[in-house]
Amino acid sequence: MQHLPTIDRPHEECGVFGIYAPDEDVSRLTYFGLYALQHRGQESAGIAAGDGRGLVVKRDMGLVSQVFSEEVLRGLRGHLAIGHTRYSTTGSSQVCNAQPFLLETYNGPFALGHNGNLVNSRILRDRLREDGVTFTSTTDSEVIAWLIALSAGPNWGARIARTLPKLMGAYSLVMATADEVFAARDPMGVRPLCLGRLGSGWVVASETCALDTIGATFEREIAPGEIVRIGASGLSSYQFEPARPALCSFEHIYFARPDSVLDGRLVYDVRVALGRILAREQPAEADVVIPVPDSAVPAAVGYAAESGIPYGEGLIKNRYIGRTFIAPDQRLRDVGIGLKFNPLPGQLAGRRVVVIEDSIVRGSTSKPIVSLLRKAGAREVHLRISSPPYRHPCCLGMDTGRRDELIAAQLTVDEIRSYIGADSLGYLSEEGLLEAMGRTRSTTCLACLDGKYPLPVQMEMDKLALE
Ligand code: SF4
Repeated sequence: MQHLPTIDRPHEECGVFGIYAPDEDVSRLTYFGLYALQHRGQESAGIAAGDGRGLVVKRDMGLVSQVFSEEVLRGLRGHLAIGHTRYSTTGSSQVCNAQPFLLETYNGPFALGHNGNLVNSRILRDRLREDGVTFTSTTDSEVIAWLIALSAGPNWGARIARTLPKLMGAYSLVMATADEVFAARDPMGVRPLCLGRLGSGWVVASETCALDTIGATFEREIAPGEIVRIGASGLSSYQFEPARPALCSFEHIYFARPDSVLDGRLVYDVRVALGRILAREQPAEADVVIPVPDSAVPAAVGYAAESGIPYGEGLIKNRYIGRTFIAPDQRLRDVGIGLKFNPLPGQLAGRRVVVIEDSIVRGSTSKPIVSLLRKAGAREVHLRISSPPYRHPCCLGMDTGRRDELIAAQLTVDEIRSYIGADSLGYLSEEGLLEAMGRTRSTTCLACLDGKYPLPVQMEMDKLALE
């Protein structure tokens, strides 16, 4: 197996899910919840289920549908479960890094699934090693699990509350013991985490689309700096640190599913607003507006509505191409992006086309797409990006590569246009992005755009830039 060149976007690290529902088939519901969160990670998946006496875990490489069969789900019995789907950013792509992690501790079993990235994990890992911990994975998620497991406290809630203030970075966590489920979100709330109800039970998930999928109702978001504990006596909540919000702006731009509600707003609506503002800021003389499917569709709808230029579809995406792929031979490798997108010449021939994309990271997708559109007969290609230039690496859970791989860190907008081969190129402004999200600069992470990280990571970033 080899990696096919991936679509040129930052990659999400993980999706998490948790359920406490004694009257339900919790493993099956977790399976469907993870299915709804598959877009957040496609390399591995896992479920840990508890029945009051112990925890059983199944985790493996592959998509949710590949990891779990009827037989596997039947072996995951209980009244509570947590689940995880992963794209590797820290730690390599191996089964030992799949989650949830299950630790057998002096206080009983403890399982944890993590979405995000710590910036102080190396220091924490070294300290734990000095204390005699032998790690089975290379991820910072295992570091968190061990810190909690070894923390002093009369119960798991106290151990979790004592540990989380030691962590620096982004973490949306689901955790399980034999008889309780916990969820926690870092004080910046970088990654999403929501709470829902299912009958008399409770559900937590990275995104509300997972609640919809299993028929749960959305209650509220887990607040930045909050721990939620769900057990036989119901739900309790504890604010372990004051919130200092810095929601990842790329959740709205690209990562989250458009049918999820995030920060009180339907992601689809925010993306349409991004497109509308982009049309005002970066107008173009053209005959048709097309998206790079699927994620840029809402922004293209907004751009078309605002500009009055008709919306059309000029590229069809093969939705069944995953990240890993049976090695294409040289001829197919040369086809490159054509394996993922096929143009519709009837929509493009002789026309001036505005093509809407949600981001350019390395420029490796935009250039062949422009070339595909031209080959299909487009007379002019005007590329419009529904986010500002991506100039700095992310340290909070996105795989964006090193700074020297980010095209906007190396070239001016006009140099990028020339490299990509478009007739014109225009990005959304940071102000336009904030307006569409309905957020302020002080409550939003824009670090990959403006270089201002919401926590002290400058040394880490400088190192990343040099590596
Ligand atoms: S740096 Fe960018 S991708 Fe990373 S959390 Fe901040 S806004 Fe999101």
